[in-house]
Amino acid sequence: MNIDLLVVGSGFFGLTIAERAAAAGRKVTVIERRHHIGGNAYSENEPETGIEVHRYGAHLFHTSNPTVWEYVNRFTTFTNYVHRVYSTHNGQVYALPVNLHTINQFFQAAYTPDEARALVKEQAGEFDVKTARNFEEKGIALVGRPLFEAFFRDYTAKQWQTEPHKLSGDIVSRLPVRYNYDNRYFNDTWEGLPTDGYTAWLERMADHPNIEVKLNVDFFDESQPLSKKALVGQLPIVYTGPVDRYFDYAEGELSWRTLDFEEEVLNVGDFQGTPVMNYPDADVPFTRIHEFKHFHPERKDVYPDDKTVIMREYSRFATREDEPYYPVNTSEDRAGLLAYRELAKGEKDVHFGGRLGTYQYLDMHMAIGSALSMWRNDFGGDA
Ligand code: UDP
Repeated sequence: MNIDLLVVGSGFFGLTIAERAAAAGRKVTVIERRHHIGGNAYSENEPETGIEVHRYGAHLFHTSNPTVWEYVNRFTTFTNYVHRVYSTHNGQVYALPVNLHTINQFFQAAYTPDEARALVKEQAGEFDVKTARNFEEKGIALVGRPLFEAFFRDYTAKQWQTEPHKLSGDIVSRLPVRYNYDNRYFNDTWEGLPTDGYTAWLERMADHPNIEVKLNVDFFDESQPLSKKALVGQLPIVYTGPVDRYFDYAEGELSWRTLDFEEEVLNVGDFQGTPVMNYPDADVPFTRIHEFKHFHPERKDVYPDDKTVIMREYSRFATREDEPYYPVNTSEDRAGLLAYRELAKGEKDVHFGGRLGTYQYLDMHMAIGSALSMWRNDFGGDA
């Protein structure tokens, strides 16, 4: 077999490794269980409207890492899209992330930044960002109890179905809190959407004579030649699937969340006036609604002006048959992960990476950055 490296999984982590290895002259085979590349970043145009739909929920690219930014720009240009999210609570629309506008609207006040800061501090009670031990304590420390209850508590119950004191505070720290009127969702230096769509970007990464991508191939299917059983120990392998699946759940199952989407094509030009509307209240079963045409205002002459595509997003625990999206990462999961890391050390020349392979809540830019690091550290390559 003429392969120098096998990459299992064609998400951003796997494709970055494959691209770097191919550029360095190695023959790479990428196997992918699904019928398409790109993992959960995959997108396709909805057939009736031509509107680009992110099949596995909205993916927004942002980074402050100059190496990653330079790298991704080799494969795509980016639009000047800036992500903003609104939240409908008790029949009123608020701006996220929590900022001075959210605070003033919520309390029907006109606080200055210092007044709002003082109010939140008082409402945070005994909790402090520096000493908070979990999601609940950190969330209350960041925005105070009333705002936490309005915008975080029930949304998080729907998203994670896990008691907030069992979740990591890192999850809530993904969202900035601002004492000004800036409502950009991300703080990063660079942000945008791939001009020709995610799939074009992903395909360009894989487009190299040294890369062969094989779709619909399952690494754990022993009846096909590129299986775990046949190849571990025979050549270097980068594995980006779920780490617990790799070891056949020997240390128990790690908990993952998956998403279900309800897609609709509507005969209206504009359904909600914005790309993402969150629904933090307990009486609404979904967490958010995406309206995809708003991600690409620059395509307004191409997209229909009398139709739109929306997707309601629902969250639940993943079974072994579901696509995992989010590591829940409770303390039991962390103990399980440590056991899997020990097992991983014993696997000869198998390198675990990506959100699923490391059981970490990595954003796209983090997956790419960590693949570039692995390429340098484990394979001695250049970025
Ligand atoms: N979150 C929340 N309310 C919101 C938005 C986010 O409580 O309106 C919490 C929730 O626990 C969520 C986390 O913050 O899982 C991270 O949100 P983010 O938007 O980064 O999640 P993603 O887009 O990755 O699903």
